[in-house]
Amino acid sequence: MVKYSPLTTEHITKIKEIVHYENVFQDAETLLHYGHDYTEDLNFPPQIVVKPINKEQIAALLKYCNENKIPVTPRGAGTGLSGGSLPIYGGIALSLEKMNRIVAIDKDNLQATVEPGVINENLRIAVEAEGLFYPPDPASKGSCFMGGNVAHRSGGPKCVKYGTTKDYILNLEIVLPSGAIIWTGADTLKNSTGYNLTQLMIGSEGTLAIVTKIVLRLIPKPQHDLLLWAAFENAEQACAVVPKIFHQGLVPSALEFMERKAVELSVAKHKMSFDFGMEQAYLLIEVDGNDITQLHKEIESIYNILESNGCNNILLAEDATTKEKLWKIRRSIGEVVKSHGIYKEEDTVVKRANLPQLYNKVKSLEQLFGFESICYGHAGDGNLHVNILQGTMTDAAWKNDLPKVITTIFETCKALGGTISGEHGIGLVQKQYMPLVMSKIHFQLMRGIKNTFDPNGILNPGKIFPENY
Ligand SMILES: Cc1cc2nc3c(=O)[nH]c(=O)nc-3n(C[C@H](O)[C@H](O)[C@H](O)COP(=O)(O)OP(=O)(O)OC[C@H]3O[C@@H](n4cnc5c(N)ncnc54)[C@H](O)[C@@H]3O)c2cc1C
Repeated sequence: MVKYSPLTTEHITKIKEIVHYENVFQDAETLLHYGHDYTEDLNFPPQIVVKPINKEQIAALLKYCNENKIPVTPRGAGTGLSGGSLPIYGGIALSLEKMNRIVAIDKDNLQATVEPGVINENLRIAVEAEGLFYPPDPASKGSCFMGGNVAHRSGGPKCVKYGTTKDYILNLEIVLPSGAIIWTGADTLKNSTGYNLTQLMIGSEGTLAIVTKIVLRLIPKPQHDLLLWAAFENAEQACAVVPKIFHQGLVPSALEFMERKAVELSVAKHKMSFDFGMEQAYLLIEVDGNDITQLHKEIESIYNILESNGCNNILLAEDATTKEKLWKIRRSIGEVVKSHGIYKEEDTVVKRANLPQLYNKVKSLEQLFGFESICYGHAGDGNLHVNILQGTMTDAAWKNDLPKVITTIFETCKALGGTISGEHGIGLVQKQYMPLVMSKIHFQLMRGIKNTFDPNGILNPGKIFPENY
């Protein structure tokens, strides 16, 4: 177990010299804010919050913290759902929010270079103005940072067709705990030069280095999209139709699953009018491209597949307002479900065709243990967000049974060819379940990597690795 020095007045004075006093915050309100993210109701305030403005400040800060064994927890926008940005050992919360420039958009090469504090949506808007497209679109895209997306290997609805964050990162500028600053690769579309340090950084959750610049691949913006909303009387049926769409050679640009309860909460939040019938689940299916005639053919084929698989309530969104409404329902679900009482969200992922089995298992556990569950997610990727709500369970039963429920869900994921997180990362709250999917050899290899990058264990301590394992 690494021993960390609590910050002394002398440390704080030195840190203020390194990053300038106006970038260091110690007031109670700020500490409280940077002590939590979107993960349940956890709070671990840091001793100070530091908001550097360039890589040189970060390099000098890390070098000093490394020499003095001061824990540093990197932080993007704090929208994470696995407690990754929580400074559980106190020390410094290192916020990247002031490093928020879009450095360049290179139209010739279809690339962009950004700082880690750029908000996902701001990048999308900026590149779209140039006729370009950055597909990875977490539902939190209006607030999450590109650095956080890299650290979590984030996904979103568009990823079913276009791939996740990992498929768009060409090169990263990183600062190591030693204070060294390096580029992990090259700004090229191909690279077969040694170990792939770029991909190693993607999904490393701030435990290896601080990302200070990101070179991204872009694609031309598709000109058109069509959107279907399909209502099913049976949720299992909705999950089961998903692989059938791909079997027909169709690749939607979004294929989202929502249980009725999720939609009810979202619609109520926005005070929308919505006609609920007997349906229990919905699919939101989008196709995009440049040839509108072709898209109509694709949407018709999807319509036919849905109809021949028990769905007879299908709406084609005719205009931009309807599309916006349907997407708003979907995108708001994460937030509304979380405000619905005590909950635990799991980011399960299985092989796409195995989704019905996973869904059924969650529902059978619901019956057995008496919690309430709300499922939704990126069905096209086999990625189901399972929200377990305390509902009428007693506090004692919740405390006692929840780990059993989660363990069973994760064991089911593994048995169905999946794993315990598709896009939210491991962070603090999932680390205890890592041994379900990783062996001692995995941990030896990962610890070796961690020790090489961060021998004193100052970067985001207490994350990813299970205790005593
Ligand atoms: C309502 C809602 C909807 C969401 N929908 C999705 C979704 O559809 N898909 C999805 O994938 N996720 C989703 N998320 C989760 C979350 O938004 C993503 O994980 C996002 O990428 C986190 O970005 P952030 O800037 O908030 O990072 P934080 O939460 O601040 O940090 C996340 C991790 O990244 C590390 N980190 C941050 N910046 C850096 C850096 N520059 N260098 C090194 N490490 C760094 C932190 O230490 C931490 O471990 C959702 C969250 C919410 C609240």
